[in-house]
Amino acid sequence: KSLPYFCRGEVIRGFGRGSKELGIPTANFPDSVVDNLPADINTGIYYGWACVGNGDVHRMVMSIGWNPYYKNTKKSMETHVIHTFKEDFYGEILSVVMVGYIRPERTFDSLEALISAINSDIGEAKVKLQLPEHLKLREDNFFTTAP
Ligand code: ADP
Ligand code: MG
Repeated sequence: KSLPYFCRGEVIRGFGRGSKELGIPTANFPDSVVDNLPADINTGIYYGWACVGNGDVHRMVMSIGWNPYYKNTKKSMETHVIHTFKEDFYGEILSVVMVGYIRPERTFDSLEALISAINSDIGEAKVKLQLPEHLKLREDNFFTTAP
């Protein structure tokens, strides 16, 4: 099993699917990071810890899914950091550790249903990340060694 899984990479522009307009911006990783994912990391929603540059470590939820831009032949990794940032951080290095799996990918009948699913994912992440085994990863050297 590949969790916890540590990775980092530059935050690139996504395809403007309007995540920010939903109040849930997602920082996208480049293909180089996605291509390094172990084969047994399935698509779906993960939770864990994330930091931007050498900033504080925050909770995160991440969606790994099939990217429509590449006709669903390529995976994408999008991280929502559970923190309110003063400004965007395109071009900065995002470091993450994925510690657990929440659910598979799915489609929703309405925007409201999508938003409520994401909010319940965030709630689940907040509860699970209180486990001592997860809390200790927040202090991992990975986050203190400069990228
Ligand atoms: P894009 O399609 O370019 O990914 P989004 O609407 O998903 O656009 O917004 C993502 C961008 O928002 C990130 O790249 C980052 O610069 C910024 N951002 C601000 N706050 C957050 C946050 N809490 N989590 C993730 N990204 C955030
Ligand atoms: Mg995005």
